[in-house]
Amino acid sequence: QNNVSKSSSVAKIKVVVRKRPLNKKEISRKEEDVITIDAYSNSLTVHETKLKVDLTEYVDRHEFVFDAVLDDDVSNDEVYRETVESVVPAIFQQTKATCFAYGQTGSGKTYTMQPLPLKASHDILSLMHYTYRNQGFQLFVSFFEIYGGKLFDLLNQKRKLCMREDGKQQVCIVGLKEYRVSDVEMIKELIERGNACRSTGTTGANEESSRSHAILQLVIKKLFEDKESKPSRVVGKLSFIDLAGSERGADTTDNDKQTRIEGAEINKSLLALKECIRALDNDQVHIPFRGSKLTEVLRDSFIGNSRTVMISCISPNSGSCEHTLNTLRYADRVK
Ligand code: ADP
Ligand code: MG
Repeated sequence: QNNVSKSSSVAKIKVVVRKRPLNKKEISRKEEDVITIDAYSNSLTVHETKLKVDLTEYVDRHEFVFDAVLDDDVSNDEVYRETVESVVPAIFQQTKATCFAYGQTGSGKTYTMQPLPLKASHDILSLMHYTYRNQGFQLFVSFFEIYGGKLFDLLNQKRKLCMREDGKQQVCIVGLKEYRVSDVEMIKELIERGNACRSTGTTGANEESSRSHAILQLVIKKLFEDKESKPSRVVGKLSFIDLAGSERGADTTDNDKQTRIEGAEINKSLLALKECIRALDNDQVHIPFRGSKLTEVLRDSFIGNSRTVMISCISPNSGSCEHTLNTLRYADRVK
């Protein structure tokens, strides 16, 4: 009976892989595209070149199947339709939905993630204006990052924030700025402001952003006429998480101490995230969210009605083969 109810309901977790095109640099280095995709069967093959003991080359093929596999010519609009679009109506019905972008630095996480909240808020606002007209729904946006296990408000000059549990399983980030938004233009400005705050790296490279998790949350609240109860309460939440570069979790043997500490924190959070998603998928009562700051911050999104979309971004070039396989194995474990 359990099986019936599980299969008849909407899948709680969707795992999608997106491949980016080869870039100019990779082409000029004569790197090859080692990923082939069969969109009809949602499968993907990595063609890894290896050396035999006698130093002759051979190709090792690794095949994976996911809920969707998006080739390098798929547009951001299509990515939205494949990932977040279907969860948007659910956040008016007490659902917490979360969309993650996972992958090595340079694989397209930010490129993939940036347009999604904008498209989602466009759809949310039109549901508020048409379907749920005059029902007291309001939309709020917040944007913060986790860097070295600490929280910083990207919409308030990177102010350091702390987290508190309110005893009702809700996460409260003390002092986090939440802006009420009524049109897409406002959201756009806020996202741009947050992004500008994020990339303050002095080296020019995206050093810092690759070591932090950026979290943008769209929160739906409902106003109540009833004076007795609180003026408004959270109805649903949609979180977009641009994760730290997955390769950073391996920085645990770096010469620089700070880098090692950050690497260990990233490693811990990505492992904890995988465990939480798996626990969620298995309908486990105990969700191991205490494993890291990232999962603690998201704890209210792992309980109750929740939906998770994992977008695994991969680079196509031969030089990234190892990282690509790591990303695909991680995604495979989450599924
Ligand atoms: P990450 O955030 O994972 O470090 P980025 O999103 O910054 O990676 O992408 C690295 C570079 O590749 C950027 O210049 C970006 O514009 C480009 N890029 C990523 N994905 C795509 C894509 N699907 N199509 C075209 N260009 C892409
Ligand atoms: Mg990025």
